[in-house]
Amino acid sequence: MKSIKILHLYPDRMNIYGDFGNIICLQKRMEWRSIQYEYHTRSIGEAIDESFDIVFMGGGQDKGQLAVAQDLQLKSRALHDLMHQDVPILAICGAYQLFGKYFITAEGDELPGIGLFNAVTKASKMRMIGNITLQSELFGELVGFENHSGETELLEGTNTLGKVIKGYGNTHNSQFEGILRGNAIGTYLHGSFLPKNPKVADYIIQKAMQLSVPEYELTPIDDWLENEAARIAQKRS
Ligand code: GLN
Repeated sequence: MKSIKILHLYPDRMNIYGDFGNIICLQKRMEWRSIQYEYHTRSIGEAIDESFDIVFMGGGQDKGQLAVAQDLQLKSRALHDLMHQDVPILAICGAYQLFGKYFITAEGDELPGIGLFNAVTKASKMRMIGNITLQSELFGELVGFENHSGETELLEGTNTLGKVIKGYGNTHNSQFEGILRGNAIGTYLHGSFLPKNPKVADYIIQKAMQLSVPEYELTPIDDWLENEAARIAQKRS
């Protein structure tokens, strides 16, 4: 079985509220199953010059997004190609925004997105902060932490990650959060997101494995600790 190649975009620039924990979670859940993996990074000026099996990009403050937006344009074609090859992609918050069509910051800067998600984001005067709980058709209940001024409008033909049970979500009153396109997931959920939402982590790993072995099924793991962490997080106000 070939190694799973993880691509982490801009770890030096886009990594807030524990987002690197998503990488650690994916690595651990593969190690526990003796799945071999390689961890690769690409930041500013570094081309995506090979194929990958998982793509991850974390969130960032407006200034971090300003620093990477133009470079991300140079990576756009490669990322679209990976998405069309059914490579699982996870984009958190600021990354989610830049994977849309554009993000207009609080200062009025229009940052170009790569249009992988059919969505647009505009900063609002309100900062949406706090614990958030979703009900997702694909994954069930999901928990996380959000902190964004950006309000993301999903355009025609898009699917949301889930319905907001508690918190804000895509906008201050949208009742929905995140976006799904193929095996790509965009979400505002920090925390880190994956450790308390193991179904999503395993979805990403399984989709990555199925790129080379289509019938591959992950062996289950006893997620009692992860589920207890999610239960406690869900109870927080
Ligand atoms: N800077 C963006 C916003 O405030 C994204 C923030 C983030 O990644 N947490 O909406």
